[in-house]
Amino acid sequence: MLRFEQLSFWEHQQYLEQNTFVIVGAGLVGMSTALSLRERFPKEKITILEKGYLPTGASTKNAGFTCFGSPTELLDDLQLIPEQTIWETVALRLEGLQLLKERIGDKGMNYRNCGSWDLISEAENPIDAASLDYLNLEFEKRFGLCEVYRQDNQRIGKFGFKGYRAAYFNPYEGSIDTGLLIHTLYQKCIATDIRFLFATEVFSFENNHGNVQIQTNHGDLSCAELFLCTNGFAQTYFQNEMKPARAQVLITKPLVHQINGTFHSERGYYYFRDIGDRILLGGGRHLDFNGETTTKFESNKLIYEALFKKLSSEILPGVPFEIERAWSGIMCVGAEKKPIIRSLNKNVHAGVRMGGMGVAIGSAVGAALSKLV
Ligand SMILES: Cc1cc2nc3c(=O)[nH]c(=O)nc-3n(C[C@H](O)[C@H](O)[C@H](O)COP(=O)(O)OP(=O)(O)OC[C@H]3O[C@@H](n4cnc5c(N)ncnc54)[C@H](O)[C@@H]3O)c2cc1C
Repeated sequence: MLRFEQLSFWEHQQYLEQNTFVIVGAGLVGMSTALSLRERFPKEKITILEKGYLPTGASTKNAGFTCFGSPTELLDDLQLIPEQTIWETVALRLEGLQLLKERIGDKGMNYRNCGSWDLISEAENPIDAASLDYLNLEFEKRFGLCEVYRQDNQRIGKFGFKGYRAAYFNPYEGSIDTGLLIHTLYQKCIATDIRFLFATEVFSFENNHGNVQIQTNHGDLSCAELFLCTNGFAQTYFQNEMKPARAQVLITKPLVHQINGTFHSERGYYYFRDIGDRILLGGGRHLDFNGETTTKFESNKLIYEALFKKLSSEILPGVPFEIERAWSGIMCVGAEKKPIIRSLNKNVHAGVRMGGMGVAIGSAVGAALSKLV
């Protein structure tokens, strides 16, 4: 690969010079930040640096749920996180979803308003009526959303599931085509004159007389304002506030099934959905928290086997299936679920720690980041 100093006059001028804004990371947050900056600054030069030949974190690898919180996950969070922080985070997720829909439309991500179900296994207790009422009341009071969660046990049999005793339906969640969403955002960036340098990894940066000097695997470039949108790969800058969290996913080959929607269980640690005639299932990170605290894209045998067993015994009992593909992606989690949106110094800003709901929250984080300058 050519070093920056070997580039032609034209290449150097076009891509490396006079960048006002440089964004590190071409995931959902990086591209959303670029688009929000473009709305505020129509004429400034904006360049995204991405270490992979594709975005290589979570945004092209996720399950495609437009989720903002299942009842068991929110109730679990309420035991651990201050109530106000939880509702502020939910507000950001709802705001982000709205912005995403306005920005690219339902078609741009193949949005399907199929709803979601939170499934309670036979080993767990159903949600008590008072807790469900509390959640529904808060959603109505804070966001004007009526009856966000309601019990819908008959779906368990209708979809052919086994091993679940209760289901809670949320009509406001849905699914998207993850690949299409990222491609549409990319097209929107290109159409608004946002540049990309793929296969360009940022090693370090430093402030230099009002500019930021950026060191990459190809050489140096500079900009006026730098945005770090590197989520699970940002630990150098936020050591005690975040850690990477790998997540495993598998998808079946086409089969005959009766499942239609998005599903969570065990406080969001498992999730599955239909994608046409296939079923996608992910999660199981809680089976090996230590092993999955990594930025390495590898499979985890223990979790793969647990996911396979879940498919055969609970989700597709009695239905023959084969796995077409399995993969992993890297998320970013912390003790708090609220994202970090912060300036590290006058010219360097960061938006990281999206947790497991970056599809919803990512656009709101990009918008908030763009307002730091
Ligand atoms: C398996 C899985 C399933 C998920 N399911 C859902 C879901 O259904 N719904 C939902 O809302 N969320 C889901 N998530 C979470 C969601 O995908 C993430 O929260 C979201 O994609 C984060 O976006 P991001 O842009 O912050 O990070 P990323 O998509 O990880 O983007 C960060 C980018 O930075 C690049 N980068 C890192 N370091 C450097 C560097 N030094 N130089 C240059 N580039 C760099 C990376 O290559 C990467 O492309 C899931 C995540 C995973 C892994």
